[in-house]
Amino acid sequence: MKKITATSLILLMISLFLQQTLSKEILGDAAERNVKQEKEQAHEVHCSRERSRAAWNIIEEYLMPFVERENYQISTKCRLHPDNDLFRNQEQHKIQVDTNDWKCGYCKKSFHAEKYLDQHFDSRHYNLLNVSEGKCLADLCGALHCDFVMNSKSPKTKCKPAAVAKNRHLCESLADTCFPPNQGRSASRLHELFLRQFCNAHTCSGKKKHFPEGRKKETSVIYLAMSILTLMLLPLFYLVVYLYQREMRQGTQELRRIARVGRKTKPS
Ligand SMILES: [Zn+2]
Repeated sequence: MKKITATSLILLMISLFLQQTLSKEILGDAAERNVKQEKEQAHEVHCSRERSRAAWNIIEEYLMPFVERENYQISTKCRLHPDNDLFRNQEQHKIQVDTNDWKCGYCKKSFHAEKYLDQHFDSRHYNLLNVSEGKCLADLCGALHCDFVMNSKSPKTKCKPAAVAKNRHLCESLADTCFPPNQGRSASRLHELFLRQFCNAHTCSGKKKHFPEGRKKETSVIYLAMSILTLMLLPLFYLVVYLYQREMRQGTQELRRIARVGRKTKPS
C-alpha cells in the first residue's frame, strides 16, 4: 500500500513538472511571436525593394524601347505597368545630387548613399507605399531574369525543370495580359517580341540567349562623343597634311637645286 502511494506521488510530481515547463514554453513562444508580428506590421513589406528595382531596370532597358517604338500604351491590368510597382512613387522621389549625395524628394533630407535613403523611405515614408495585392514587381523576377542581371556571373547551378516551367508560365502570362495578341498589330508584334526577349530563355534544353533582341541603344551619346572627337581631330589632320606638303615642296626645291648644280658642272 505504501509502495503504491509513493510511486503515485512521484508520478504526480513528474506530471506537474512537465505541465509547468510546457505551458511556460508555449507562453514564451506566443509572446515572441507577438513581438515579431508587431515588428513586421510596423516596417516590413514583403516585397524586396532591391529586386523590384532590378525588375524595373530590366523592363526599362529591354522592353520599353520597343514599346515606345510601337507607340503602345500598356494597360494598368498589366503587372509591368508603373502603377503596379509599389515602390515606384518612392523611387521617383529620389534625387541624386552627386555620386555621394542623395536627397529625399518628400522632405529634402540628404544622405551619403542610396541605401540610407532606402532605409529612410522604409522608416519615415512607409505610409506612402501602395501596399496591395499583386503590386510587387520583385514577384516577376523569375520571369524577367533578375538573378541573371543582378549577379552578372551566373553560378553554374543545375537546371530545375519545375522552376523553369513555372517561370516560363509566368512569363507567358505576362505576355498575354500586357500585349493581348488580338488587340491590334502593335500588341501582337510586342507579344511575339516579349516571348523571344524574355520567355524563350526559360528552358533546360540547350543554351538560350537572354534578351536576344538587345537593349536600349544609346546612340545619341555615342554620336555626340564621335562628333566631338572628329571636331578635335580635324585641325590636327590638317596640320599634318600641311606639314607633309611643306616638306614635299622643300624636297622638290632641293632636288631642283641639285639638278641645276649638276647641269652647270656638266658642260665644263
Ligand atoms: Zn524624407
